[in-house]
Amino acid sequence: PKTLRLILGDQLNASHPWFNDVCENDTYVIAELHQETNYVGHHIQKVQAFFAAMNAFAIALKNAGHRVMYLTLDDTHKYSDLPALLSELLKDGMQHFEYQQPDEYRLSEQLAKFCEQLRHQNITSDCIDSFHFYLPHNELAEHFKANTSHRMEFFYRTMRKRFNILVDENNKPDGGKWNFDQQNRNKLKKQDIVHVPAPLLFSHDVSEINKRLNRHKVKTIGHAESQLLWPINRKQSLQLLDYFCHHLLPLFGTFQDAMTCKADDAVTQKQWSLYHSRLSFSLNSKMLSPKQVVDTVIKHYQIHDSVSITQVEGFVRQILGWREFIRGMYWLNMPQYKDKNGLEATNKLPSWFWDGNTKMNCLHHAINQSLQYGYAHHIQRLMITGNFCLITGIDPEQVDNWYLGIYVDAIEWVELPNTRGMSQFADGGLIASKAYAASGNYINKMSDYCQSCHYKVKEKVSDNACPINSLYWHFMHKHHQAFSTNPRQAMVYRNWQKQSSEQQQQILDKAKYYLADLDTL
Ligand code: FAD
Ligand code: SF4
Repeated sequence: PKTLRLILGDQLNASHPWFNDVCENDTYVIAELHQETNYVGHHIQKVQAFFAAMNAFAIALKNAGHRVMYLTLDDTHKYSDLPALLSELLKDGMQHFEYQQPDEYRLSEQLAKFCEQLRHQNITSDCIDSFHFYLPHNELAEHFKANTSHRMEFFYRTMRKRFNILVDENNKPDGGKWNFDQQNRNKLKKQDIVHVPAPLLFSHDVSEINKRLNRHKVKTIGHAESQLLWPINRKQSLQLLDYFCHHLLPLFGTFQDAMTCKADDAVTQKQWSLYHSRLSFSLNSKMLSPKQVVDTVIKHYQIHDSVSITQVEGFVRQILGWREFIRGMYWLNMPQYKDKNGLEATNKLPSWFWDGNTKMNCLHHAINQSLQYGYAHHIQRLMITGNFCLITGIDPEQVDNWYLGIYVDAIEWVELPNTRGMSQFADGGLIASKAYAASGNYINKMSDYCQSCHYKVKEKVSDNACPINSLYWHFMHKHHQAFSTNPRQAMVYRNWQKQSSEQQQQILDKAKYYLADLDTL
């Protein structure tokens, strides 16, 4: 039958079975949509990267002989939403409609409803897997249950065995341990920083995309570089992967949790992503598959002595473990997950989240970098911006909107469980075994931010005392009932009890003083 096949912006998977054969009856549609640019204010580089990658994918499919329609905002602006556009396209004698299972609940629901309506118009429809993840969509329910705590570590071991990754013939883990996280917690010293390789950047002319965004008044956030520096096709994504294997993987695990503000000016080229891969955009847009990334990294480890099991396990865990785990938790808990606010947090996100204008150097640096590049690495997201929102009780809805907009890799299925669950503990511990709250001490241990900060990290109550300290204790004190039974947090409460009640009161008063006006910090 004459078929219309929809390719969403994050479904740029050239290895999908759809593309095995060229069929005259199949027309593919890839469309820039207002509904996708407007559901939250996105970072300008994120919109540029998606549109540029979608366009490059359409051209590659055409070159391979497929019939492809690439629709820009100019073509689609007159349609109120995706179903309206599809209805119009199907009028052109189409008998069948197909789409790949979306990763976002919102789109999945929208398309399922749309297909219901098509039934009345004698147009058949089909939804097939995106063939991107290790676990097919219809297997997720075998591993995850709604509203139930799951731990990544157990899931990860199951995945290692099931897919035969870094295990021997008896299913025992290579290197004798499933997880080398303990060895992955080094701080970058001054003498280490100059050796951090600069990130591999691309440069694409996106002036036509910028014109379209202006023409259609698309509201964006963040800075635009003169050229787009993110990969926009599979070839460039593979170059990024190769660069990672050769230059970053040898120390990926060692400095996985390290943070620095010195890297930016240590050498002429910037080093803002440290030893991280920056592969998340290529993965989330599906230009690369997780299997391809994991296989390449393991092959590299097997033939290069410079890479140890500690490094490679740490990296594989992020993709085979965390990424697949987060996706499962998302699907089994949506749509309720989006409304979770277990700690009843209602404060307003400080205005400086949108311009980086705060005297707290850790937040100033992490936010500025995010605005500049649409990127921050995991510990910056979790322990700097995330930690601040957690300990000051910011409304998780506002926190989510910030994270969903600002990062080039932000798509709800991966952003939401990481933010609401892992970072804000708003799901009551479905994902994380404890709230990831930290005082200035942790930030000082893992970074050099405190050395050039307006505030004093060792102090809790003096005039310029580090706000993170008193805010942390205020948070822990406030949630004493909920947290003190958690063995992972018992030690924290013992330390609190060691302080005199007078000291405790001073710290709580200081936190209240800061909380009264977060915008001025
Ligand atoms: P690397 O450090 O090089 O790690 C390699 C890959 O592992 C990443 O590309 C990513 O695909 C995967 N990975 C690592 N950690 C996670 C994780 N916790 N969940 C899922 N995948 C993971 N990741 C996103 O892709 N999109 C998001 O919107 C997003 N939002 C986040 C929000 C918060 C509050 C936190 C704490 C984390 C978030 N993450 C998100 C996870 C993680 O921070 C990013 O995947 C990572 O920083 C991307 O940079 P990288 O490619 O250099 O990662
Ligand atoms: Fe952040 Fe406090 Fe360190 Fe300043 S002193 S950088 S506010 S942790």
